[in-house]
Amino acid sequence: MKLSKLVGERFKEKPSDCVVESHALMVRGGYMKYVASGIYSSYMPLKRITRKIENILREEMDKIDGQEVQFPVVMPATIWQESGRYEAIGKEMVRFNDRNNSPHVLGMTHEEAAVHLVREYGQTYNNYPFMIYQIQTKFRDEARPKAGLMRVREFTMKDAYSFHTSQQDLEEYYDKCHKAYERIFERVGVPGVISVASDSGMMGGNISHEFMLLSDIGEDSIAICSECDYRANMEAAENINDYVRTSPSEELTLVHTPNKHTIEEVCSFLNSSERNSCKAVVYQRNSDDKYIVLFLRGDLEANETKLTNYLGFDIHPATITEDCGLNAGFIGPVKLEGDFIVLYDNSLKNMNNVVCGANVIDYHYTGLDVSRDLNSVEFHDFAKIQEGGICPKCGKHAIKISRGIEVGNIFQLGTKYTKSMQMTYVDSDGNSQYPIMGCYGIGVGRLAASICEAHHDDYGPIWPKAIAPYQVHLCAVRSDNQEVKELADKLYEELQNKGVEVIYDDRDVSAGIMFSDADLLGVPVRVIVSPRNIKQGVVEIVARDKSFSESAPIDTALNDIMKRL
Ligand code: ATP
Ligand code: MG
Repeated sequence: MKLSKLVGERFKEKPSDCVVESHALMVRGGYMKYVASGIYSSYMPLKRITRKIENILREEMDKIDGQEVQFPVVMPATIWQESGRYEAIGKEMVRFNDRNNSPHVLGMTHEEAAVHLVREYGQTYNNYPFMIYQIQTKFRDEARPKAGLMRVREFTMKDAYSFHTSQQDLEEYYDKCHKAYERIFERVGVPGVISVASDSGMMGGNISHEFMLLSDIGEDSIAICSECDYRANMEAAENINDYVRTSPSEELTLVHTPNKHTIEEVCSFLNSSERNSCKAVVYQRNSDDKYIVLFLRGDLEANETKLTNYLGFDIHPATITEDCGLNAGFIGPVKLEGDFIVLYDNSLKNMNNVVCGANVIDYHYTGLDVSRDLNSVEFHDFAKIQEGGICPKCGKHAIKISRGIEVGNIFQLGTKYTKSMQMTYVDSDGNSQYPIMGCYGIGVGRLAASICEAHHDDYGPIWPKAIAPYQVHLCAVRSDNQEVKELADKLYEELQNKGVEVIYDDRDVSAGIMFSDADLLGVPVRVIVSPRNIKQGVVEIVARDKSFSESAPIDTALNDIMKRL
């Protein structure tokens, strides 16, 4: 490909709307163009990168007996009504009516389509297990698209669905897929991607893992133990309580705390530590605004995912009105009266000499003994694990919190979709059974952007060889010079004859522009033909990642370039 003909523009200035490097570099490098919020077109360099990623995904899915299929982007509402998700999913799913006024959706995931495809084939147990996958467009009307390809509304996903006749078979396949994912991330150049135990949502009980690239720009928080191999998404990590009483319980005493609303204010006023206080966090049920009051230790934060999983319905932070019966800033577990759902976090279990609200304006209690003063309450895990917290696996105070980008996930689905969509098979004893499913996703664009985050410098991406848009970036510096043009043309042809993917900068532009464009295209090997080099009888071969730089004699240049590939 000649750079003079490459569609797209490259430029120096960092676009003001780009908050992450991968986004800025991909816009500056002529990889993508904004169309609408969360919707982009790709120019050829990006298309070549994603095609290579997709081919690696294909090879690895085929290796674990996957069969590539294709589901439709547009689906009738009926199959989503069967699974119950037509109603359960919110505005993220685009719904519309076709010309006959029949409701349809844009595919945002394809469990329903997968079950629909194999419902008949899967009627006999002999046909199991099997895995089908596709690499295709998804549309999700995300509330806040951001960070370029990291969170978009339209994106390409590799999504795979496996079907099994026993939990053990699913688990064995799940492990195989886990290993395939490790190979994928290694091959595309991000071997540092780790798998973390993740939250399985409202289904509960099921096992799932997310594959995370550790990065400060990541949206997810991950708890990693520095003493053992425990790592989990913060949403899923259990927060352990190791409270031990150090002094005898004092009496429950009402104290005047005028205008002290926050737990910090109250504790500093009473000269007490936040660790020895109990605070209230209030939510409301989405469907009817019923109040949910969660009590937890004052220095901890509530984990909304754990709360919704426990409650089984969606919630939002509460608006506390004057007549709702709650005294904001003074809410406490003793004598709290009203029609609220009241929950207690594990962190409060067994605590004594605790400071808490008294449910009366300007008053708190000191000396709360949770075991003595609260009647038969149940404790559950609703708090976020903290930096320095206790590892749920090895029990040491060794939890570190890191940010991560979720590039993929694997999920033991169980029978949720086969049951709801009535997919059954007859087992060897003649009994009707529901197949057990697993599903496995990787976002192609987010992965490309993550690779860029992991491999770039101030001047541009440094694409790993396996997914780079081209292998060689050939620069003809001073292409108006006859000798330069002849040698560069010749190398271009010879490299192509050898099957090398070459981008050839044949433009009559300054060396500065040529090199900054080459930096933005991030091709692993750069070959420079220039009048000065020719005078010395050489061409320069330089690595984009600066790992080598050599002057190769013109006679052996082709061979020397091939060696560097
Ligand atoms: P997230 O929590 O980031 O929204 P998700 O849990 O919704 O992801 P899945 O539905 O399991 O993700 O999709 C599988 C993969 O698809 C994700 O791991 C991610 O790589 C990619 N993906 C999901 N949503 C987006 C998006 N809005 N933009 C780009 N890629 C996405
Ligand atoms: Mg999502």
